[in-house]
Amino acid sequence: MTCYSHSRLGTYENCPYQYKLRYIDKIRPEIPDTIEAFLGSIVHEALDGLYKDIKFKKEISKANLIKDYNELWERRYSNDILIVKAEKEGVNSENYRKMGEQFISDYYDRMEPFDQLTILGLETTDRMTLPDGNKWHVRIDKLGCDSEGNYFVCDYKTNSRMKDQEEADNDRQLALYSIWVKNKFKDAKSVKLVWHMLAFNKDAVSERSDEELEKLQKEVCDKIKEIESATEFPRNKNALCDYCDYKAMCPSFKHEAELEKIKEVEKFKEDEGVKLVDEFSEIKMKLGELKKQDADFKEKLIAYAKQFDIDVVYGSNKKCSVKESDKIIMPEGEDKEKLVKLLKDKGLWDDFNMLSYAKVNSEVIKGEVDKDVKKMVELEKSFRLSLSKRKDKEDE
Ligand code: SF4
Repeated sequence: MTCYSHSRLGTYENCPYQYKLRYIDKIRPEIPDTIEAFLGSIVHEALDGLYKDIKFKKEISKANLIKDYNELWERRYSNDILIVKAEKEGVNSENYRKMGEQFISDYYDRMEPFDQLTILGLETTDRMTLPDGNKWHVRIDKLGCDSEGNYFVCDYKTNSRMKDQEEADNDRQLALYSIWVKNKFKDAKSVKLVWHMLAFNKDAVSERSDEELEKLQKEVCDKIKEIESATEFPRNKNALCDYCDYKAMCPSFKHEAELEKIKEVEKFKEDEGVKLVDEFSEIKMKLGELKKQDADFKEKLIAYAKQFDIDVVYGSNKKCSVKESDKIIMPEGEDKEKLVKLLKDKGLWDDFNMLSYAKVNSEVIKGEVDKDVKKMVELEKSFRLSLSKRKDKEDE
């Protein structure tokens, strides 16, 4: 049985291809930490240290806590940590370090003297068994309880976006941990899920009923079943691609990553792929211009034929016939429905109704078509090429 986790399921939901690389092919690229992940880990470690000191009845002042945080930062920071927003938003590591300092300072002021809970565990890790027999990885930043039998599963978050109530009430990660708490601590009257949103000096709090937890476990088992029976792992390009560990080997970004290694403009221009796309885009542009010219010439020839009351215009080697004909304009909306009904009522529908290639194609590809219908069609590989502006060249 496999051990699943919130992050494992989240990877599949974000991009099945990324999931395949990570969990099936087990590729672990050597990539630098992002500054966001680094900041999160240092803040977690500093707050973990704070509660450990409290456990041993050590006095810890805010100044010392911040000093510990800064020492951790100094010791662990390396220049290869990735700052994705450096270029776009002009921020550097010092900005992030100061943010973390503020998070810790605000948390200290809000929680001091830290006696709200009896701490039962810090960075608790365990595995729980799901109803389908698979395991679920449990990792709780801070687990505590109060004197009335309320348990608190707490998570430190350094995100720059506040978790709203709806999001907290739908969060899967901590909710599943509350099942683990209920199994481990039979005296638990309630399990509250708490996200310490450090950037906002606020908490987001949620609680789930037993029915909600049962439903959630079922959804998780269904998702695991979907993953385990998947045969295709399509790529899902999205805003998180910039943070994806596999970006440099992902077919959607591999060529871009190769080009980034080329420093000289001349060498860049010599790249076979660059040349092909540049020429293809030029041809597409010319085709667009030609299509416009084609429409202009048609209009001019029609005007000419009308002016001289002729239906063939002669050139040096070719002639052009200009024939006027009628074409119908199909009704839209309600009128279209009326027309369809009329055709059906008059028994004419089969004469006019056409098999929709686009619909059959889309439903076969998505696997939504009846299996006997699917057997009637063949599948062959085809390519669709589309040109678009590169994200990093949008202002040019
Ligand atoms: S870069 Fe984007 S599309 Fe490619 S694997 Fe990562 S998340 Fe998926």
